[in-house]
Amino acid sequence: MLEDGFGRRFAYLRLSVTDVCNFRCEYCLPNGYQGKPTGFMSVDEIRRLVAGFAELGTTKVRLTGGEPMVRKDFMEIVRVVRATPGIERLAMTTNGYKLCETADELKAAGVDAINISIDSLESERFEEITGDRRFAKVFESIDTCLEAGFGAVKLNTVLLKGLNDHELPGFFEYVRSRPIALRFIELMQTGDNQAYFEKRHVSGDVVRRKLDDEGWKPVDRGPVDGPAVEYGHPDHAGRIGLIAPYAPGFCDTCNRLRVTARGGLRLCLFGRGSQNLRPFLQRDEDREQLKACLLTALLGKKVSHFLHQGDFGDTPHLAYTGG
Ligand code: SAM
Ligand code: SF4
Repeated sequence: MLEDGFGRRFAYLRLSVTDVCNFRCEYCLPNGYQGKPTGFMSVDEIRRLVAGFAELGTTKVRLTGGEPMVRKDFMEIVRVVRATPGIERLAMTTNGYKLCETADELKAAGVDAINISIDSLESERFEEITGDRRFAKVFESIDTCLEAGFGAVKLNTVLLKGLNDHELPGFFEYVRSRPIALRFIELMQTGDNQAYFEKRHVSGDVVRRKLDDEGWKPVDRGPVDGPAVEYGHPDHAGRIGLIAPYAPGFCDTCNRLRVTARGGLRLCLFGRGSQNLRPFLQRDEDREQLKACLLTALLGKKVSHFLHQGDFGDTPHLAYTGG
């Protein structure tokens, strides 16, 4: 079992399959993708990687990016990961640009849960934040995914001062009749967005106060649940969640590891450096070496991030690390 020096266990892998993205979210890739779109793990490398993790107790994988769906072989990746013995749950995070036409196929290929990022329920605001005009399509894809029958459909919304924080009541209203968890993510500081962070960061306390005032109650977390604390309310079919990395105790329940699209193991979203796993992904015979490398690397995981000391690690933006 993957366990760190503080007794935390890691049954959840967040796997980036590309750092390319077709959106230009202001806080992530404001100028669009500027990297070199080469060198990403092949389907075979991904298969070997996930098999190694699964043999060490990983039961849940989330495919992310960049925008994971820009990979032409994305469905193949889904099938390969889902077919790995031990993987019980396959989730993905997407900006939703291609979900309307692929939701059924994704479901059939084995995706259990979908997170769709949507930062505004207003078309113009959405375009301002993401640089993309496909609001109507992304918005429609939420209902398409519900109809397709995924085990969970969740929304990710980054709260941004002066841009979408006035929409808080609208977001709450949106989940009144829909069985969806809408999770507010506190804007995180990365290497490339420092000025933006200063200007737009909204503390998660704003959401927490509203939840308290309106009688929302926290619901229990499962062992492979992500970082969101989710709240329920008797008058709402859906839930509201909060991902607040700056809140005390955020790291205590850490249960996830990340691998970048180029095969680097990252122990923390806000950490530094990565362990290159590529040498162990070229042959099935190297599985034991891969596992030994993972177990050793994990001993280097720190007890928490250092955001409060102003150290947000070496992540330029979340598309790079896999958000
Ligand atoms: N492109 C996909 C998407 O947007 O859903 C997957 C990758 S994206 C990096 C994953 C999530 O990270 C999105 O919900 C996005 O809004 C969020 N994100 C990106 N940069 C962030 C930042 N600096 N602070 C907080 N959340 C961020
Ligand atoms: Fe792309 Fe997701 Fe980053 Fe937006 S948040 S630029 S959709 S990777």
